[in-house]
Amino acid sequence: MPQNTVHALSRDAMRQLQMERLQTTLNRAYFNVDFYRKRMDALALLPEDVGSFEDLRRFPFTTRHDLTEHYPYGLFAEPLKSIVRLKITTPPLRDEGKPIVMGFTRHDVAMWLSLMVRVYEQLGITDRDILQVAFNFSLFPGAFTFNQAAEALGATLAPSATISATLQLQIMQDFRSTVLATTAAFALHIVETLERQGKDARDMDLRLVLLGPEPLSEVTRERLESVFKVPVHGLYGVTEMVEPGVAGECEKKEGLHLAEDQFLAEIVHPVSGERVASGQEGELVLTTLTAEGYPLIRYRTGDITVLREGPCSCGRTTVRMAPVLRRTDNRISLRGITFYPDDVEKILRASDPVLEDFRLVIHTSYGIGQQMEILLVRPMDRDFPGGSRSQYLELQRSHVRRVLGLGARIQLVERERLPMEGLFHKTVFRNISPWYGTEKD
Ligand SMILES: [Zn+2]
Repeated sequence: MPQNTVHALSRDAMRQLQMERLQTTLNRAYFNVDFYRKRMDALALLPEDVGSFEDLRRFPFTTRHDLTEHYPYGLFAEPLKSIVRLKITTPPLRDEGKPIVMGFTRHDVAMWLSLMVRVYEQLGITDRDILQVAFNFSLFPGAFTFNQAAEALGATLAPSATISATLQLQIMQDFRSTVLATTAAFALHIVETLERQGKDARDMDLRLVLLGPEPLSEVTRERLESVFKVPVHGLYGVTEMVEPGVAGECEKKEGLHLAEDQFLAEIVHPVSGERVASGQEGELVLTTLTAEGYPLIRYRTGDITVLREGPCSCGRTTVRMAPVLRRTDNRISLRGITFYPDDVEKILRASDPVLEDFRLVIHTSYGIGQQMEILLVRPMDRDFPGGSRSQYLELQRSHVRRVLGLGARIQLVERERLPMEGLFHKTVFRNISPWYGTEKD
């Protein structure tokens, strides 16, 4: 049974709540943020002109580029005096090192926390649970919200931030942890360790696994559930808004319930920006509905998903979204580090101007999580920067590690051996989805 009344609202009541909050947000943006006022003035739009959700379509999208352009405080809707928390995103190389800074008021922080509590509650986590929250907190600041929400719920927090899989299992056993929250990659590593030790997860008290911030694929879920022998769930967040907590699964695993009282969701075609028909796949566009410090209007998340309307078999009425397994911009998130294929290309070419082509392949193996492999094509008769062939490869490896903070296996291959289906390279993506084709051509 849904604990939270938001989940029990009829569709009409939810739409009405959203419309009221949307109008407040538009007013806040218009009167407090130059960027939004100028845009609205240019379109001769006033906040009160928006009387329906259809009217919102007249508003331009807000993009990541807009956010970097107004670094640091240009999009804040509250004076710094009211801001209690600042958040910064890692700048992708392509933005020339410009980060995004977001600000949150006391109300925003409380809302953020309440959404994570909601994620826990809809999975049936209570004050009787012992939560083991295993994230690298410096790579994923959203991990703090996992901790704070556990405490807010009255659950017991087991200490386990950045320790080895072996120690995680030791703690799980000794502390009798009932919930494990971590990344999919690390959960796979723990599972591998458990198997190596020849232990049975049923001898522990674990009853649920919650994974983030990367989306949970069904393949990973199946593998983890087969060893942990407990349900494995995913959640969703948007770094520029609330991470985690925008959406989370319930026990039924029929999609992620979106916090519609806090975010207005649209699905648009990634290229045309037109709304797609209900139930069709497209890019998720979100408008914050109560954010005070950093309101975002029609923000293009870059995440590809599908929304499902209609009540879930758990009884909740909020719309559900599919896990985000693709992005419009090929953004890659590996071990908590976010980058683009273009970033890798820039790094490789900086060391080798005659580089002809490359493929970036992300291998997901159950033992060691995800690993990056880079295949290079260059004329073999040209001198290798750094000296010999092996010195050249070492040079590229250390360059990638220094700039991205990630290790990679790098190989030189003949052009014929370059896989057509190598992941994450734009020429390959062109074959996979017509959207990218239209955009790049
Ligand atoms: Zn449900």
